[in-house]
Order: sequence, then structure tokens, then C-alpha cells
Amino acid sequence: MNIKNIRVRFAPSPTGPLHIGGVRTALYNYLFARKNNGTFILRIEDTDQTRYVAGAEQYIIESLKWCGIEVDEGVEQGGDFGPYRQSERKDIYKEFAQKLINTGNAYYAFDTPEELNVLRKRLEEKKAPNKSYSPFSRMEMRNSLTLGEPEVKKLIDSGEPFVIRFKMPENEIIRFSDIIRGDITVNSSTLDDKVLFKSDGMPTYHLANIVDDHLMEISHVIRGEEWLPSLPLHIMLYRAFGWYSPQFAHMPLILKPDGKGKLSKRDGDKGGFPVFPLEWKNPQTGEISSGYREYGYFPEAFINMLAFLGWNPGTEQELFSMNELIEAFSLEKVGKSGARFDPEKAKWFNHQYLIQKDNKELAEQYDKILRKKGIEASAVIIEKVVALIKERVSFVNEFWEQSSFFFVAPGTYDEKAVKKRWKAQSYEQMKELMAVLESIDDFSSQSIEKKVKDWIAENEYSMGAVMNAFRLLIVGALKGPHLFDILDLIGKREALQRMETGLKTLGKKE
Ligand code: GLU
Repeated sequence: MNIKNIRVRFAPSPTGPLHIGGVRTALYNYLFARKNNGTFILRIEDTDQTRYVAGAEQYIIESLKWCGIEVDEGVEQGGDFGPYRQSERKDIYKEFAQKLINTGNAYYAFDTPEELNVLRKRLEEKKAPNKSYSPFSRMEMRNSLTLGEPEVKKLIDSGEPFVIRFKMPENEIIRFSDIIRGDITVNSSTLDDKVLFKSDGMPTYHLANIVDDHLMEISHVIRGEEWLPSLPLHIMLYRAFGWYSPQFAHMPLILKPDGKGKLSKRDGDKGGFPVFPLEWKNPQTGEISSGYREYGYFPEAFINMLAFLGWNPGTEQELFSMNELIEAFSLEKVGKSGARFDPEKAKWFNHQYLIQKDNKELAEQYDKILRKKGIEASAVIIEKVVALIKERVSFVNEFWEQSSFFFVAPGTYDEKAVKKRWKAQSYEQMKELMAVLESIDDFSSQSIEKKVKDWIAENEYSMGAVMNAFRLLIVGALKGPHLFDILDLIGKREALQRMETGLKTLGKKE
């Protein structure tokens, strides 16, 4: 094969939101293109008008942008091989279907849906190996192989609906090879005479896909395993046209978290994790499916996680930027067996990216959340809070849960904790502690810690009992980072205020 340039395509059908499996296909194509100085093409395969969903194409484009997957040629970018939307290439396919008819590789078929049903039933009863139209049944049907030429012409001229079917050769051994799966052999007799061109004047996926891959000079077809059964037909189509075929790589399936079966659209919201990159609102039902972006994932973390679903670099390293992925990626390192999706691992990736992020950047994001809650805090304080809590969360939207007490005094006190930790002596001890705090001039974490601990030691109080009661008054619960760090940030006046309110609310325990 004489292919000078690496050209790959991501060819989704706009039939709904892009599943993460689809994003992974786009990603592997993109990594492969960038690694080999090739071209990454986005082709929209929208020839099935019955499955067209409004907004899906835009969703695909937006998803790729969010992920940082840059398209070189496509519906938005244009390019020398356009148009890149198949519905705009209608006439091209007609011409190629005609070519196959002229060379005896395809034929017109006029069978009605009822006639096809009768055929299907008959084959089922006979337990025939082919379930539908094939070399073994075609001569019993109404098509241009069985009807005379004048009759065929008459039917076409009179506007009788027809399809064009591929004439699959009988008993031929088809050999081909897949970069991931190795050599494959199929007997053509197990294959059907698939429809290439439909009665609505549109090509089917098979014809349009092969014609476009050829015309767009695609060098490698990288796609999901679900397309492997179509590959023998595609190979036969390349042969029938007399074209070189691209190289193929069929990626492993993404499996459900329990490893049992393919990860489906329904698994996500059932299991509490998204299966779509962006939130999607079904235009017909209004139903909303959650997306990674809205869930709070960083695109870099999402991409890193996806890259590892089926590929691994063969080293211990797990964190890869897009550029590092490009550097390390190869199709040879993509596995054959299904890749189990692990929602916890996905969160782990986000956590890793979160703790690596600059506190200032995180603080800016957190500031937006705070403002929505009506809280205005200085950038310096927010940044300090972020530094104290980022290790504890996986998402920016979990910051509030871990740090609300930096910004607002507790309104309630955790009941269980009060029951267990607010002891008979707590009231008096906290009153004393207020006086201690009052006397501290340098209200910094270290200095408060020293003074409070000295006071505990001098009085031989229980460190645990004092600190728990103290935390209850300041935070409202037994959670949060180092208490002295919290005090440092909220300041003396606020700390004393909270203690006073807390003492009033909790009172003396009898
Ligand atoms: N339109 C097909 C899809 O939606 C493309 C399959 C292929 O890459 O050949 O997945």
C-alpha cells in the first residue's frame, strides 16, 4: 500500500449524545494522528434520516472542543475533501452504487417489506445459516438478477421503490488483518447481500463509509469493536471497487463496572456516574442525562481516564497530559479484551488533577460558587481555604461541603457529635478557653496552638475532650482540617463570637 500521509477520521452518526466510548474512539484517532504528524478528520455520518436527532451534531462538536481534541478537517473547519457531512454528499454515493451495478457487484431489488418478511420466516423455519437476502436466496426474489432487463427498466421508470444490494460472492475465503486483533478469516457464504443504497435515495452506512474513506484518503480506520462484524463486507466492497483498503484497528469494548457486558447509556445515571461527556437533554422527552463536564470533571482528567480504557503505556505512570499521551500512544499497546469502566478510578483521576492545580486557579472557580451563595470573601482567604482542603476532595463542587464553616458560622450542631462529645465539663472549659483566646495577640495557627495546648497541659484537661468540644463550637460538627488553621483564617473576633453562640445553644450538660 502506498500511503504517504496518515489520515484518520472520527465518523459519528448524530443519533443522540456521544457516549464516552465514542469520545474514546475520537481520542485514539486524534492521538494516533498527532503522534504520526497526520490529519484528524471529523465526518458526520447522517445518512440514516430516521435516526437523526436535532442538536446531536452540535453536541459532538462541543464535546470534542471541551476535551481538547482539535479537528483538522471537518464540518466547521472545511478542508480539501469536503463536504464532511454525508447528507451533503448524496449524489456521490449514487454514482458509486451505479458503478457497482455496472461491474456486476451489485443489483436492484424490488421486494416489498412483506416479501422480505416471508423470506425471513422461511429461512428461520429451515434454520438456514443466512438470516436474510444472500447468495442462496437471491435467485428466488424480485431483483435485477431474476427479472429481465426490460422489466427492471419498466419498474424503475414507473417509480417503483427499489434498493441496491451488494452481490456477495459465494464460498470465498476473505482474509484480512486488524492491527489490534491480528489476522481474521471469514467465508463469504456466511454473509448477506447487504443493502448499499436505500429507497429514500440515501446510501446505507456501509456504502457511504467506504466511499468516503476512499475519497478522503483515510489511511487508518480506528473504531469500536462493534464494527468488526461489518469488516468482511467492507473488505469486499474495497475489492469490488478495485481500491486499496485502509488499515483497520478495532478497539475493545468498554464494559460495565462489574465487567458484565457493554457499558450502556442506561448504566450511567443508574450507577451514579455520567456516561456522556456533556449533559444532554433529550429533545423529545426532555429527559436529562448527566455529563462529565457538569459533574465537575476537568477535561484533562476525563481524557486521561478515557485514554486508559483499553490502552496503557506499559509503565507505572498513570498521569498523562494530552501531549504526553500523544508521545506515548501506539495502537500496538491497545488491548484486545474489554476495558472495565471504574467510576472510582475516574474520580481518582480528577482528584489527582485537582491537587496538582494551582490554588489561585481553584480559588477563582470556588469564588464563583461562593458568590452564588451570596458570600463575598477575599481572594487571599479563598486561596488559603483551598490550600487547606483540596487534598480532601475530588471536585471543586465538593469544596463547600468541606469548607462552608470558613465562611459562615454553624447554624446547627451535629446531634450525634453533641451527644457524644459535649460533656458535663465542656461548658466551663470552653468559657475558660474563650479567655485564653482573648489574651492571644498573635492570632496565627501556630501561636494559638501553642497557647491552647499549654493551657490544656497546665490544667491537666483531656486534650481529646477539649479539642472536640472546641471544634463543635467553631465548625458545628467534628469535621474539617486542622482546627488551629481554621481559627487563623476566621480570626479572633469571629472565633469568640461562634463560641459564645455555641455556648448559648448547647448550654451546660447536666
Ligand atoms: N457512523 C459510524 C458510527 O456511528 C461510524 C463507524 C466507523 O467508524 O466506521 O459509529
